[in-house]
Amino acid sequence: MDTLLKTPNKLGFLHPLHGFPEKMSNSSSSKLQNQEFRFGPKKSHLKLVRNGFVKASTGALLELVPETKKENLDFELPMYDPSKGLVVDLAVVGGGPAGLAVAQQVSEAGLSVCAIDPSPKLIWPNNYGVWVDEFEAMDLLDCLDTTWSGAVVFIDDQSKKDLGRPYGRVNRKQLKSKMLQKCILNGVKFHQAKVIKVIHEESKSLLICNDGVTVQAAVVLDATGFSRCLVQYDKPYNPGYQVAYGILAEVEEHPFDVDKMVFMDWRDSHLNNDIKLKEGNSKIPTFLYAMPFSANRIFLEETSLVARPGIPMEDIQERMVARLRHLGIKVKSIEEDEHCVIPMGGPLPVLPQRVVGIGGTAGMVHPSTGYMVARTLAAAPIVANSIVRYLGSDRNFSCNELSSEVWKDLWPIERRRQREFFCFGMDILLKLDLPGTRRFFDAFFDLEPRYWHGFLSSRLFLPELLFFGLSLFSHASNTSRIEIMAKGTVPLVNMINNLIQDRN
Ligand SMILES: Cc1cc2nc3c(=O)[nH]c(=O)nc-3n(C[C@H](O)[C@H](O)[C@H](O)COP(=O)(O)OP(=O)(O)OC[C@H]3O[C@@H](n4cnc5c(N)ncnc54)[C@H](O)[C@@H]3O)c2cc1C
Repeated sequence: MDTLLKTPNKLGFLHPLHGFPEKMSNSSSSKLQNQEFRFGPKKSHLKLVRNGFVKASTGALLELVPETKKENLDFELPMYDPSKGLVVDLAVVGGGPAGLAVAQQVSEAGLSVCAIDPSPKLIWPNNYGVWVDEFEAMDLLDCLDTTWSGAVVFIDDQSKKDLGRPYGRVNRKQLKSKMLQKCILNGVKFHQAKVIKVIHEESKSLLICNDGVTVQAAVVLDATGFSRCLVQYDKPYNPGYQVAYGILAEVEEHPFDVDKMVFMDWRDSHLNNDIKLKEGNSKIPTFLYAMPFSANRIFLEETSLVARPGIPMEDIQERMVARLRHLGIKVKSIEEDEHCVIPMGGPLPVLPQRVVGIGGTAGMVHPSTGYMVARTLAAAPIVANSIVRYLGSDRNFSCNELSSEVWKDLWPIERRRQREFFCFGMDILLKLDLPGTRRFFDAFFDLEPRYWHGFLSSRLFLPELLFFGLSLFSHASNTSRIEIMAKGTVPLVNMINNLIQDRN
């Protein structure tokens, strides 16, 4: 869509219908005051219209998206000096939440760490939401900039669920600053570049960067998110895709309670006047996710939970425009926008392998929800302790043995089984249309909190997950039970096969 050209996506948006497996997110996080907004009629509108009014309105909304202004943190980073030819204990490739968390913790133990990222000072672009209890458990409450006492789920026009579980938005500037500060204090060295290749030798690995520099390290951690730069896969990569378009906007007004975030709004009455959109949404539904910050500032994200292939971004944007119009939300300006494409499920990387991984690259995204930040931050100490323990051990582990132990700690059998179950959940969700999805979440959010909290936060393991499944089944309507049985049988058999194979 031409209007997307106005959105500041240097990478270009390649939607997964075209078979690109990587994360292709973009977000402009410019501040309002720095923007030159262009309102008024746009020359491009008429050119863009493919099927009438809705398209034109989508264009009008996107016209409000500011130009990219990347915001860097104000830090003096100690840089890696390639001329010294040092072999560091750990090279962390990728400075997202996953990579920095491990860099910070390994360096805290006195090991030498080099963190490599093309933009090490850039504030992370994604708008992260987490359940407050997840961040509380990691003592990270100071890294939430807004919290809501609970969340709501609109199943349809008649039914709404109040979830008494506080939700928060991550203050990504604060979280990254905190991690960077600790890294600097602990002596982490930074290298600003992209890694293009790794060469393994017996006692070290060589990371070749796109600026010609080679970084040498005993252990290499691939934390490059969904770009899966170094970690290898040996099975066909066939994930589902969560696709979403979000805007942080100033609006005239909105209908939501500012004390509650909107976790999912599955209502579709906004599409009543557009049969094509309504039918499309009925087959592959999208919902609204919203974080109301005040009466006139709100983050709104139209989201396809999971689809294979993913829904084209322009369809999501059209649905969003129709929804906002129906809800009477008039957007005055857009502070930042977010294109979200998250690969979900699919195979795990080869276990074990010489390069260690964490985060998106290591299959850690929740296959049924697309969430990962809290899970990754909670897993960072496991990976860090493991690296520290084996590097510092009296017994001289070879590099391969060491990586193998770290992978075992990251993906023990319980976690692999849990992931299989979540992939089974994703496979069912992939088959549900809008009525089926509504019935599913109607039953899901009626479960005892320990079940739905545990499922969403990856805290349930087999056999608890089986009780969760039975409980979900018993809460489901008869139609939903038949549906789950009909659509879940093949995924169930696949899951059982995979569990048996993994045990073998
Ligand atoms: C738009 C969007 C919104 C999301 N919202 C949520 C949410 O609300 N809640 C949630 O839990 N999860 C959310 N997620 C999932 C999210 O991806 C992860 O939670 C998180 O960003 C992943 O962290 P990461 O450190 O693994 O990877 P990333 O954050 O992707 O970081 C990877 C880093 O590696 C760098 N890199 C890439 N290739 C190379 C290379 N070759 N050499 C060196 N560096 C490289 C990149 O520049 C980047 O800095 C969202 C994802 C997207 C895309």
